[in-house]
Amino acid sequence: MNEMLQTMIVGSLPRPAWLAEPIMYAQWRLTGDILAEGQDDAVLLAIADQHRAGLKIVTDGEQRRRHYIWGFCEELDGIDYSRLVKIQTRGNRYGILVDAARVTGPLRRARPTMVSALRFLKRHTDKPVKVTLPGPMTTADTLADEYYGSRQALAMDLARLLNEEACELAENGCDIVQFDEPCFNIYLDEVEEWGISTLERAAQGVRAKTAVHICYGYGVGPVLQWKNKNTDWTHYNRTLPLLRTSTISQISVECAASGVDPSVLALARGKDLMVGVIDVGTDAVETPETVAARIRTALQYVAPENLYPCTDCGMAPRSRAAARGKMKALEDGAALVRAELART
Ligand code: ZN
Repeated sequence: MNEMLQTMIVGSLPRPAWLAEPIMYAQWRLTGDILAEGQDDAVLLAIADQHRAGLKIVTDGEQRRRHYIWGFCEELDGIDYSRLVKIQTRGNRYGILVDAARVTGPLRRARPTMVSALRFLKRHTDKPVKVTLPGPMTTADTLADEYYGSRQALAMDLARLLNEEACELAENGCDIVQFDEPCFNIYLDEVEEWGISTLERAAQGVRAKTAVHICYGYGVGPVLQWKNKNTDWTHYNRTLPLLRTSTISQISVECAASGVDPSVLALARGKDLMVGVIDVGTDAVETPETVAARIRTALQYVAPENLYPCTDCGMAPRSRAAARGKMKALEDGAALVRAELART
């Protein structure tokens, strides 16, 4: 049997300051071949940090992407980046307008986006690996559609392209393909109407474990302000029962920093749950004991063989020292609970 409580991060790690400015959406500091070399080096450091912490499943820290949505979309035909437009996203939850690329024609994926990055990752780790892709609903929410006419139609065509990518990642040895769908915590009616089926289309026939990451957003300014005043944390109550009967095998949920009642995890019983036990909204590093306590709480509702201790979300906005400390606390806390489970 696999070791219980396998640890991993949601996906991203902070980029070194020599590669990009330490802010979201930052421009690269390097260009051309030197940029590619710098990204390779940053991935090696991200892998080394995860190995040193002892995490059981490894990602490339998303070091090659400026942003988790754009990293995929920038490779697609049918999207115009030459003139961005300001749009509301995420149901205007955060009260900000964001620059969006325009969908001006049928989307086409001319070439694989993440496969060469996966091959590089696998050459440098013997551990199981995970690659993250943006979920179709969240991607559609982040683009300015001037062609498809409905968010659902755009999302379904994105799901077709994401599925091509996911299938190729699996064929190249990816162990977990994860779709990031923070919008599943926002558009609850649409999730039920078409979000789950669109996600399943993206995961259809993928010969790897498929996962969905559903969070309350990155630990950055407007998101943290919203979290501080939010009082309704019941979104998982609706999505987890829908996902329980879906074809998706793993569900990543934010539990450490938000006001989510962990008893909601029982609604996805039988599925693998990546449970957030690390707060990504602060550089303060948890103690292993704090992490262990959060895992023990989750174990009241999730069988140990289904529980994957994880971060709440990506750690791109954090300092590198904090990210390293948090990964070590994650694994050390899990190890404490593993030892307890071995004794019982
Ligand atoms: Zn997230």
